[in-house]
Amino acid sequence: MVDIICLGELLVEIMRTENDTPHNKIGALYQGPYPSGAPAIFIDSAARMGSPFNLSAGYIGVIGDDEFGECILHKLNKDNIDISQIRIAKDKTTGIAFNQYNSDGSRKFIFAAGAAGDTSPNDINSDYFEGVKSLHIMGSALSISETSKKACYKALKVAKKKNPDVIISFDPNLRPEMLDLTTILKISEPVLKQTTILLPSGEEAEMLAGVKGEKEACLKLLEMGPKIIVLKKGKDGCTIFTDSNEKGIEIDAYTVKEVDPTGAGDSFGGAFIVGFLQKWELYQIGRFANAVGALKVEHFGPMPDTSYEEVKRLIEGK
Ligand code: ATP
Ligand code: MG
Repeated sequence: MVDIICLGELLVEIMRTENDTPHNKIGALYQGPYPSGAPAIFIDSAARMGSPFNLSAGYIGVIGDDEFGECILHKLNKDNIDISQIRIAKDKTTGIAFNQYNSDGSRKFIFAAGAAGDTSPNDINSDYFEGVKSLHIMGSALSISETSKKACYKALKVAKKKNPDVIISFDPNLRPEMLDLTTILKISEPVLKQTTILLPSGEEAEMLAGVKGEKEACLKLLEMGPKIIVLKKGKDGCTIFTDSNEKGIEIDAYTVKEVDPTGAGDSFGGAFIVGFLQKWELYQIGRFANAVGALKVEHFGPMPDTSYEEVKRLIEGK
């Protein structure tokens, strides 16, 4: 039994060490492996930030029978995530994403899925959801494979059944360049209807709402199911919209030197859920999540080791 559950793809990232170095450049250097996968980054952040409050976290996903899988398990286990529901597929390799940054901020992935999309409804054990307080769904886990999508839908159903008051958070990290809009809307809809906290970027909000303008889109999304919309704005922080505050609560980001933005949104999300489960004020939750996002971008690699104490020091300006 765990408080916070997340599921979906597990990967290692292998990253170009220099910007603007295309994957076709023969002999140029990569660095890694780094444990990754958007849902895994979320749960790692939730576990590290939740541990001072005795919030437990668990993960459902699939790795291959290899050292890349071992390094993911090692990191999640070290951060006190329950890994009992992570399956090792004997006939597969662990998912791998080769990642390259460009100085204009764009990135290019080469993705070898391996076992990353193998999560299936059979991996959802209903006893595991006994006493669950929050379930997080990632758009990437809805889109990586049909079985992973079905696993997410089943997790949603089981979580609601086990605890009608469960907090459902949803990060619609779906990219129109990877999936057509009709499919994005179709696969998101069953989750959106059940969502308590939606965590989109501006582009994702506009896409899901079918409305231009970030604020207009967030207000429209409030009519579509979610009770709280947390708009993530990179170096501009975040804005939180609720029915009782349609103007939005603006929360500034912390000023940091950006080293690697991968996973900022996912780390932010994990922290946000911890604050929400602690019943903090929305402004305080937003500041906390902004601090976790900021510390992530200062760190190279998708899944940092940042502790709650470090986050507290940034917030208190020490
Ligand atoms: P991704 O999906 O790439 O992880 P995202 O669009 O979901 O990104 P961002 O808005 O990029 O999420 O980042 C999440 C949060 O992290 C921001 O709301 C902010 O609090 C923090 N953050 C991100 N980039 C910066 C930055 N350059 N400086 C300070 N804080 C940042
Ligand atoms: Mg995102």
